[in-house]
Amino acid sequence: MKELHCPACGTPCVRVISGTSLIEKTLNRLSIFHVRCQLCTARFQARRPGNRVTSQAFDRREYRRLPANFAATLILDQPAAGGLVTDISMGGCALQATTTLTRGTFVKFVLHGPSGQGDINVDSAMICSVQPQSVGVKFLEFDPEDKQRMGQLILELLADQQAPPRISSRS
Ligand SMILES: [Zn+2]
Repeated sequence: MKELHCPACGTPCVRVISGTSLIEKTLNRLSIFHVRCQLCTARFQARRPGNRVTSQAFDRREYRRLPANFAATLILDQPAAGGLVTDISMGGCALQATTTLTRGTFVKFVLHGPSGQGDINVDSAMICSVQPQSVGVKFLEFDPEDKQRMGQLILELLADQQAPPRISSRS
């Protein structure tokens, strides 16, 4: 099958979005799919032969979450919670933190990237779930420069994912 590429940035790191509305389901039957770029967040339509999207049917997220290990802070008027990001995509992340913030709260999100790289700010983010030990955060608005740097970080995580498995020291 011909590989899909993002028309905006050219990357093959794209993901077919499973449609839920009647119109989308009809389009899907005609082999027309909505696709979300995993790096620049562009959304576009593509035709694919056949009618199978089985490889990701188990996961309805528009963005694939990648395992991560970064510190981050949620800011309301002042820093409100901090913790470790355990998975991340351009659409949001899971943060290991305890917080009194409630679902639906709008916050600013600051990712403290790997050493040598500055913080990445998400100007507008929303708390979308709260568990005893973790918080789900949805990213809503980036500064273009921050968005680009976040895309670069996601690309690096993707490259790590696709690297051949390292030899395990376990025998
Ligand atoms: Zn793109």
